[in-house]
Amino acid sequence: MSDSVIYSVVVPVYNEEQVVLESYKRLKKVMDSVNEPYEIIFVNDGSRDKTAFIVNEICEKDKNIKFLDFSRNFGHQIAITAGMDYTEGEAIIVIDADLQDPPEVIPKMIEKWKEGYEVVYGKRIERKGDTFFKKFTAAAFYRLLRRMTDVDIPVDTGDFRLIDRKVCVALSNVGERSRYIRGLISWLGFKQIGVEFSRDKRFAGETKYPLKKMIKFAFDAITSFSYKPLKIATYAGTIISFIGFVYLLVIIFQALFIKNTQQGWPSLMAITIVFNGIVLMILGIIGEYIGRIYDEAKGRPLYIIRQTKNIEKDKKGLRGW
Ligand code: UDP
Ligand code: MG
Repeated sequence: MSDSVIYSVVVPVYNEEQVVLESYKRLKKVMDSVNEPYEIIFVNDGSRDKTAFIVNEICEKDKNIKFLDFSRNFGHQIAITAGMDYTEGEAIIVIDADLQDPPEVIPKMIEKWKEGYEVVYGKRIERKGDTFFKKFTAAAFYRLLRRMTDVDIPVDTGDFRLIDRKVCVALSNVGERSRYIRGLISWLGFKQIGVEFSRDKRFAGETKYPLKKMIKFAFDAITSFSYKPLKIATYAGTIISFIGFVYLLVIIFQALFIKNTQQGWPSLMAITIVFNGIVLMILGIIGEYIGRIYDEAKGRPLYIIRQTKNIEKDKKGLRGW
């Protein structure tokens, strides 16, 4: 065994005190069985529980484990990004901490990588632990996104995947802040293939993706990869204006040739309310894009690291910080 790291496993953790030790144990078992040098990087995304403490303790005992501790919660996609920036391996594996993505699939991914594939994504053929609501919204979302964008993003795949170092470096050159990583990896190209797996129940604790985060995630995905919502806004605006214009002609006709034009207050109100609603909705859609442009324009760093463990003190990530 040579000393240089071949595999880097990136694990984002947010309030995972109930699972982090178990996920370390299972990952270690799998990675030891591969029999080549590896590192596991835990990225603590501003947990408010004992997660950081536990990871620190693991790092004390096992030097293959590295730790990036964020100054606050920056979000799942940013945590993955940071982890990737600090990897040293030739192949990088991203996996959730809650063991919904079974670590035992990793050797299969490695096999594909050794065959020459540069991206090996996990494709969920079954979602055991997820609620009906989650399954339904996820399935609908992936298909909607597919229709909206020209980038070929495979459906039912999450961030559980292996990428070659080349892909990781290419991804570090993507500076975007609203990161939908699985989409960006598709956009990068390279030789890609899926490995099927069945998604397990969460080992313990609750999902860290409440509805609010899910909605933001969905908006990030769509706005990063599609202008269609803006086009829909244009079409809707055009059609509505046309209908409005026709109706205006009707009103003028009535005013000129039919005496009683007093009626119609309810319909007027109805139209006002509906149309104002549509206008606000369209403004909201535009706002989603503008807000993201604003965020990008500020150019703040993607994440702030409070401390690291088992990582050289002055080591800079792929992004140069
Ligand atoms: N996570 C994170 N930051 C967040 C939310 C989640 O780092 O703001 C991590 C979390 O600890 C887990 C992974 O991202 O390792 C996926 O989260 P979760 O399992 O809660 O999502 P779900 O599987 O329910 O979609
Ligand atoms: Mg999960």
